[in-house]
Amino acid sequence: MTEAPQDLRDIVKGTIDGIIGFVETEVIPLEQKHKDILADERKLFGADGKLVPEIREAREKVRSKSGKAGYWAMFSSQSIGGGGLPVPVSIYVQEALYRKYGPGHLLMGWANGFITTPLIGSFVDGPSHMFTRASEAIRTDVVPSVIAGEKTVCFALTEPDAGSDLWNLKCKARKEGNEWVINGTKQWITNSPYADYAAVFAVTNEEMFAQHKGGTTGFLVDTRQPGVDTSTIFPIIGHVSSDCGSIILEDVRVKEDYILGDVDQGFQLSMMGISEGRLGYAGGCLGLAEWALDRSIEYAKERKTFGRPLAEHQAIQWMLADSAIEIFNAKYTALRTAELVEEYQPSGRVPIKEISIVKAYVMEMAGRVCDRAIQIHGAMGLSNEMGLEEALRIARTWRIPDGTSEMQRRTIAGRLLRGDVVF
Ligand SMILES: Cc1cc2nc3c(=O)[nH]c(=O)nc-3n(C[C@H](O)[C@H](O)[C@H](O)COP(=O)(O)OP(=O)(O)OC[C@H]3O[C@@H](n4cnc5c(N)ncnc54)[C@H](O)[C@@H]3O)c2cc1C
Repeated sequence: MTEAPQDLRDIVKGTIDGIIGFVETEVIPLEQKHKDILADERKLFGADGKLVPEIREAREKVRSKSGKAGYWAMFSSQSIGGGGLPVPVSIYVQEALYRKYGPGHLLMGWANGFITTPLIGSFVDGPSHMFTRASEAIRTDVVPSVIAGEKTVCFALTEPDAGSDLWNLKCKARKEGNEWVINGTKQWITNSPYADYAAVFAVTNEEMFAQHKGGTTGFLVDTRQPGVDTSTIFPIIGHVSSDCGSIILEDVRVKEDYILGDVDQGFQLSMMGISEGRLGYAGGCLGLAEWALDRSIEYAKERKTFGRPLAEHQAIQWMLADSAIEIFNAKYTALRTAELVEEYQPSGRVPIKEISIVKAYVMEMAGRVCDRAIQIHGAMGLSNEMGLEEALRIARTWRIPDGTSEMQRRTIAGRLLRGDVVF
């Protein structure tokens, strides 16, 4: 990969400096104010599994200010009012944030079981690329508030019987007059407890669906309307709660034009923005791994055993070196793939194989680096104080959502066997 062009480097630097300044002035003081609640999950969540009002308000405040400052929607398409920043910038920005702050910053997300952040909207909670294909009604009524960070969305595709195998969806929508009526259950939906709107994917043409030729449609559902139940929240990976829950839809009526994309082409639409989203999350994972390596280097220099710093023991040096090798590989794999996304965009092509390689490799790499960091820290690595165990939990979580590691390998192998063997 060649070095990033000067104008891109300027955008990256300006964006990183700006957002770190924003975090320091708008986020850190709020975290300080609520530090007692943030430090104890029993205080953080109410009996309903939702964040307590103080923290919800704080997150809303951050999101709204981030919207006004232009960070919340900076990676969304300009055609819907977003900042339209190039995909490589999202990798650099997320990397910088997670390297600097690590896990454990609830208001920034990725901590205590959360994977959304009120700082930057993503395809699971904010102004997704899907909105570029929304009807005029949605673009007028909904998109401006989502771009501004006043309202949030969730992406409701997975169901109890359909995760990797989406051809097993059971949620259905039928047309009645000038409305659609939706019935079904969505599960493991990030931001479902808080979202104002849900992008719900339902089967609309049984015949096409049975032949795996389409047959699903994306609808925008107002989560406050009758028939929508978002009260179930799942505790995840040792946490008391999370931001991930289910959505039960019973005879939910949606206006005819509250559709995202074309009727019966929902799966195509659901992939929009996922590529960019996966690469942005990869940037976050990369930053998290770098943060864990930074902590490991510091500790290895400081902690002494057998009369010498850990850093002088070859076994420890090798762990540091192995992490550096993997981080370097992961970083340039992700950045080159982001360049390909940009290069291919005018032709409508997507570097599918490469995005799957990034999703599988970077998330797995982060797990290995965090695990080594814990090993280097000994018992200290396991203490909740260091944040390393939280980093490992985050990295571990990421091998499942947004396409498991196995599904990525399935995609990669499928592409190879169809002749896509260029690297
Ligand atoms: C924290 C979190 C957030 C999420 N957020 C969202 C969201 O916002 N919106 C949304 O729609 N969904 C979301 N999901 C759901 C997520 O996309 C699914 O969990 C994921 O796609 C896997 O589906 P599953 O859990 O049903 O596992 P399954 O599909 O049942 O798979 C179980 C295991 O079998 C493996 N497997 C399955 N089929 C094969 C095969 N053919 N070959 C080899 N191995 C196979 C899988 O890789 C996995 O290891 C989220 C999940 C989590 C954990």
